[in-house]
Amino acid sequence: MMGMDEKVRKTLAELGVNDAQGVEWLFAELRKTAERERAELISRGAPDQPQRERLCKALRDRWLARKGGFLSQVDENWLKPAGKDLKPVVGRQFNELRRFTPSLEIEKLVEALPLQQEASHPTELPLGSVAPRPAPRDLTLPGLRRPLGSIHPVTRMQREIEDIFLGLGFWIEGGPEIESTYYNFDALNIPESHPSRDDWDTLYIDSKTVLRTHTSPVQIRAMEKYGAPLYIIIPGKCYRHDNPDSTHSPMFHQIEGLAIDEDITFADLKGTLDFFAKKLFGEKVRTRFQPSFFPFTEPSGEVAVSCFVCDGQGCRVCKESGWIELMGCGMVHPQVLRNGGIDPDKYSGWAFGLGVDRFAMVKYDINDIQLFFQGDVRFLEQF
Ligand SMILES: [Zn+2]
Repeated sequence: MMGMDEKVRKTLAELGVNDAQGVEWLFAELRKTAERERAELISRGAPDQPQRERLCKALRDRWLARKGGFLSQVDENWLKPAGKDLKPVVGRQFNELRRFTPSLEIEKLVEALPLQQEASHPTELPLGSVAPRPAPRDLTLPGLRRPLGSIHPVTRMQREIEDIFLGLGFWIEGGPEIESTYYNFDALNIPESHPSRDDWDTLYIDSKTVLRTHTSPVQIRAMEKYGAPLYIIIPGKCYRHDNPDSTHSPMFHQIEGLAIDEDITFADLKGTLDFFAKKLFGEKVRTRFQPSFFPFTEPSGEVAVSCFVCDGQGCRVCKESGWIELMGCGMVHPQVLRNGGIDPDKYSGWAFGLGVDRFAMVKYDINDIQLFFQGDVRFLEQF
């Protein structure tokens, strides 16, 4: 958390304070800090007279110095640059603060501050003596209220996607983020020689344990746990050996879908994903399926949706192509079903995997994935 030293050097705008309530909280926090620092000094005391004078002067300078004291910084950085709408409330609070600081009697502390012979550490007190009383608390001071937060855009996106599939009868399944190479790779038909298993792509904990690179291992875990039929979606964090840039993050969010039942065909996959795209981006979007390759599905495809901004005409969001790539998908490979303990002669299934962060970037028109993870309140409070 940002300390008061840092806060008084920033403007209200930089602190993300943009309403009267916020200003009042900030000044209340400032007054509390002053009281706390004074109380702490008194409870510590000073070893001797010169030290007593030095400590008291330091506290006085910190708060009241004409140049660089907290009060003058508040004047300079909060009051002066405040916008027209906030200026009256900041001015009022600043005047109250100026009336409040003399009551701290920082100037008189030099006489009041106990020397440590008198008020030493309790364990050093002679037996039977009375420990110094702590400075009394002022219970009439306003409390510190924390402003209500909002739902993070990635969580918001995830919940929106979850809701669509919950409505179709799917349920939500989770699994560990620290995963064995068996569940992350082998059981999904990804052979030892596959480049995605390389150190350059995957974060290894040891030779048999990784930070999962996708949510797909939960497919196998769920097949083992529940058998067929199975209709689940799997949201969660994944990790790859990527350098952070505007489109990459070593940690990101995926949602995977899996449907296994008798007589499931590619038509079910197309129908479901087309319904999903229309629910999420609007009834008029169209979906496009193109062949692709993944080790754990056969056949495999890539799904794109016609741009919901320009309706396929070409714009900045779809990079002038008219289409937005959504996800990879395909029919679950028979060997993967077998690895999950399901008979591929009786059951078939489809699966898809999508990046939640990318969905949120497209939907909310955000051009840098890093914004999601920097915790900047000014960005987050827009959602
Ligand atoms: Zn477009």
